[in-house]
Amino acid sequence: MVAPTTERAVRTYGVFIDGEETQPTAELMARENPGTQKVVARFTRGDASEAQAAVTSARRAFDKGDWPSRSGAERAAVLRALASLMRRDQEPLAGIDAEESGKPIRLARGDVAAGIALTEYAAALAMTSHGEVHTHLGPDFTGLVTREPCGVVAMITPWNFPLLLLMQKLPFALAAGCTAVCKPSELTSGSTLEIAKLATEAGLPDGVFNVVTGPGATVGNHLARSSDVDLLSFTGSTAVGRSVVEASSGNVKRLSLELGGKAASIVFPDADLEDAVDGVLFAVLFNQGECCVSGARLLVHQDVADRFVAALVDRVSRLRVGAPLDEDADIGAMIHSAHLDKVLEYIGGAEAEGARVVAGGTRLTSGAFAAGHFMAPTIIDQVSPTSRLFNEEVFGPVLAISRFRTEEEAVELANSVEYGLANSVWSKNIDTALSLGRRLRSGTVWVNTTIDGAPQLPCGGVKNSGYGREMGQAGFEEFTELKTIQIRSGKRTPFFRDGCAH
Ligand code: NAD
Repeated sequence: MVAPTTERAVRTYGVFIDGEETQPTAELMARENPGTQKVVARFTRGDASEAQAAVTSARRAFDKGDWPSRSGAERAAVLRALASLMRRDQEPLAGIDAEESGKPIRLARGDVAAGIALTEYAAALAMTSHGEVHTHLGPDFTGLVTREPCGVVAMITPWNFPLLLLMQKLPFALAAGCTAVCKPSELTSGSTLEIAKLATEAGLPDGVFNVVTGPGATVGNHLARSSDVDLLSFTGSTAVGRSVVEASSGNVKRLSLELGGKAASIVFPDADLEDAVDGVLFAVLFNQGECCVSGARLLVHQDVADRFVAALVDRVSRLRVGAPLDEDADIGAMIHSAHLDKVLEYIGGAEAEGARVVAGGTRLTSGAFAAGHFMAPTIIDQVSPTSRLFNEEVFGPVLAISRFRTEEEAVELANSVEYGLANSVWSKNIDTALSLGRRLRSGTVWVNTTIDGAPQLPCGGVKNSGYGREMGQAGFEEFTELKTIQIRSGKRTPFFRDGCAH
C-alpha cells in the first residue's frame, strides 16, 4: 500500500531489484517540490553496477522464469490485479507525481486514471494476442507465424508524466511476456518505484520488473549499452535520444524512441471558435506546457486572427497558477529554476526579433509564488516562422502565434519544423479537416480536439520525434518478435537428381 502523501512526509527509496526494494544507499538524490522547494523525496543514486544487477535479474526472469511462457490469461490476471491496486492507491500515487513534477494534483489524478485504463487494456491484449496460420501454401505446407515476447526491455522515462509514460510501456511489455528494467527520471522516480512494489503485490514474479534510479549518463547509458537488453524503449529529448541510438549499437538492440515535439494548433475561420479558444489554451498550458505534444504554436487564419487572439488573452487572464497540491490550480510549477530561465530566454529572444508578448511573459514571484518556480501563462503574437521560438521545443506555457492565409500555407508552416509528433486542426469543414489530417507530417492529428487519446489509439512520432508506437495494438506489438515456423507434411520432393556420380 502506498503511504498517503502529505507535504511533510519525505519518502526515501532504495532501488527495486528481483522483487525487493534495497536499503537506500548513502548517496541519495534529494528532490524538492518545485512549488515549495521543500524536499519531498530522496532517491538512491544508482550506478552501473546496480543497473547491471537489475538487467541480470530481468535476464534471469526471462531466460529461466515462467513469465514469458505463462498463458495470456495468467498474465492478464496479474495486470488486472495491478490496475485494481493502482485504483486503491490512486490518491497517494497522484500526490507523489504532483509533488515531484510540479503538475497540478487534478492532472496527476488524470494521469493515474489513464495509467489504470492502459493496464486494463493491456490485460485484454494479453488474452487476445495470437499468431497466424497459413494454409494456402500448397497441400504439403503449413506456415505458423508466432508472436513471441521480445525479451528484456529497458525503459528510460522523463520527468513530465512519470507514471503515465511508464504505463504507456510497462503493461504492454508485461502483457507480451517480456521482463523489464526501468530507469525513471532522477527528478521524479517515486511513482515508478511505487508501481514496482504494487506489481509485486499484484503477483508479478520476482525479477520481471526492476527499477534503478540514478543519473542518465551512468544508469541510462549502461542500459542503452547492455548486450543483455533486447529492446530499449526511450522517452525523452531528441538530443539524448540520439545518444542512446549510438550507445545501443553494440548488440544492435531494437529501439523505440518517443522524442521531442513542436505541435501546431491550426485554426480556420469555420471552426467553433469558442471550442477552439478553450482547446488552443488547453493544448499549450496542459502540464505547464511541459508536454511532448504541447500545442506550442498557434497558426490562425488571417480573417479571424485579431479577434481570436483577443479571446485567448481574455480567457488566459482568468486561469489559475498554483502549487501542485492546490485543488484549484490550472497550471502548476515548472520542473526547476534553470528550466524556467531557459523558457524565459526564448521569450526574450522572440521579443528582440519583433514578436509581441500579449499575455504573461514573466516569472511569478509575489506572495506564495516566491517559494517556487512559477511562470505566468504566456501568449506571443507575430512570431516569425524563422525564429527559435517557432522552431525549437520550449517545453513551457508559451503560445507562439503566426498567421496564415491559405490552407497550403498552413500545411507548409505546420510541417516546417524538425519534429512530427502531433498537430491539431480546428475546422467544421470536413474537406479541410480530412485534407490537413492527411497532409500534416505527424504521428497524430487531432480534429476539433487536442491532447486526447484512448488506450486503443497508438501514439508516436515521425521525423526527429522518433519512431515506434506506444499504446494500441501497435504498442503491444512493439514488445513482440515474429517467428515463422514452416512445416512440410508428406514426402519431400528431392532437390538433387539421382545417379549423378562425380
Ligand atoms: P531527457 O532526454 O533529458 O531525459 C530523459 C531520460 O533519459 C531521463 O531518465 C534521463 O535521466 C535519461 N538520460 C539522460 N541522459 C542519458 C544518457 N546519456 N543515456 C541514457 N539515458 C539518459 O528528457 P527530460 O528532460 O527528462 O524530458 C523532457 C523531454 O522528453 C522533452 O524533449 C519531451 O518532448 C520529451 N518527451 C517525449 C514524449 C513522447 O512521447 N514523444 C513524452 C514525454 C516527454
